[in-house]
Amino acid sequence: MASMWTFALARLAGILIAGLCAGLLIGPIWLWLLAAACLYLGWQLGNLYRLDRWLRLRSQIDPPNLGGIWGDVIGQVVRLHRRKQFHKQRLVQLYRELRRSTAALPDGVIILSPQHEIVWFNRQAARLLGLKRPVDIGLRIDNLIRAPEFVRYLHGDDFAMPLIIRPPVHAELYLALQLVPYGAGQSLLLARDVTRQMRLEAMRKDFVANASHELRTPLTVISGYLDVLADDPSIDEAWAGPIRDMRSQAQRMNTIIADLLELSRLESTDGEAVREPIDVPGMLERMQRDALARTDRPRQIVLELDTEDGLFGSTQELESAFTNLLVNGIKYTPSEGMVRMRWWADDEGVYFSVSDNGIGIPAEHIPRLTERFYRVDAGRSRERGGSGLGLAIVKHALQLHGGWLDVQSTEGKGSVFTCHFPLQRLLPASVRAVARA
Ligand code: ADP
Repeated sequence: MASMWTFALARLAGILIAGLCAGLLIGPIWLWLLAAACLYLGWQLGNLYRLDRWLRLRSQIDPPNLGGIWGDVIGQVVRLHRRKQFHKQRLVQLYRELRRSTAALPDGVIILSPQHEIVWFNRQAARLLGLKRPVDIGLRIDNLIRAPEFVRYLHGDDFAMPLIIRPPVHAELYLALQLVPYGAGQSLLLARDVTRQMRLEAMRKDFVANASHELRTPLTVISGYLDVLADDPSIDEAWAGPIRDMRSQAQRMNTIIADLLELSRLESTDGEAVREPIDVPGMLERMQRDALARTDRPRQIVLELDTEDGLFGSTQELESAFTNLLVNGIKYTPSEGMVRMRWWADDEGVYFSVSDNGIGIPAEHIPRLTERFYRVDAGRSRERGGSGLGLAIVKHALQLHGGWLDVQSTEGKGSVFTCHFPLQRLLPASVRAVARA
């Protein structure tokens, strides 16, 4: 590189010296020096012209065959160009592979701009959501899928779980839509056909509901006969024990069936719970009176009412949920312990909690407590008449009210079960008083 520049400078010096010598011999010097400089400049301009022409018509003509510095510049341009071509080809190839693989995906994929406009979608998204290219590109997705729950989901900030909707173009399908934010405000909307799972789920729910319903009548008959037998003085004394066991088992089965039916009813309720005005403080006072009348209760059952406000919701469902939590507190707290119910509201929501200083729950069980039939200690739960469905019922009842259940517990120390309700469900005490008047 350095030698090339030395050579170029030597060449310039040679031309100037030749001009100087010619000037000295034939004179005038300045004219010969000027002629030599012009000659050099003309030669460089000629090279520049050939380079420029080649750069403009690169695809049609070969690079000019220039030596020295010019040859080196041309060589570098050729190398740069080849490298660019190589990267371009790789990018194009990668892009094609990406498009081919996303097109082959069994799920629909839609790329959305920060304003939720459609930037791109694959074939499956077009099929599932009835999108058309190119007319739908650039349209806002919430103008095409107008289901209110989808619009709420899209403008919310919780995308951890997919949303199940029935697409406008295929009312027979169920789609799970999930938003995956990425980059600067962009997002991917994934659409998966979950029709089969939803049908299986519906079949499961129907089966459980029907089976429970069918078992109810024979069980009522059996329980009836067992009651008669228990009261019959002519029955041999030796049968008293077995009949008592049979009655308690029949009672357990009745509880399980009642809970299964209640759960099926909650699961099959579409949308939100009704909005009846509920006098929650009154309901809790009643529950406290009933609990105090139980013989198996712990020493103290305390009720703390921090607000006189009530709730808009389904009385039956909330009473069942709150009672389940209270009964659990009673069941899992020894007789010298305490169960405390609390009802309060703040700027963010309305809350009901049941805390106890009973046996508590080991941390690893807490996330699974609301699963059907999940018990920490199956033996203890059965012994206390538990069906293992109570907390599943609580979870569903709260969900229907837009709420959720929080569980805090320490093994051996006690537990706190808190129901959270959104402020939209709050029934202010003043409104309740007017309604009652
Ligand atoms: P169960 O009818 O068995 O009580 P639940 O669904 O109501 O069923 O509760 C599930 C499990 O959670 C129970 O079996 C019990 O192990 C545990 N559990 C619920 N409430 C409490 C509580 N207050 N203290 C300790 N454990 C509890």
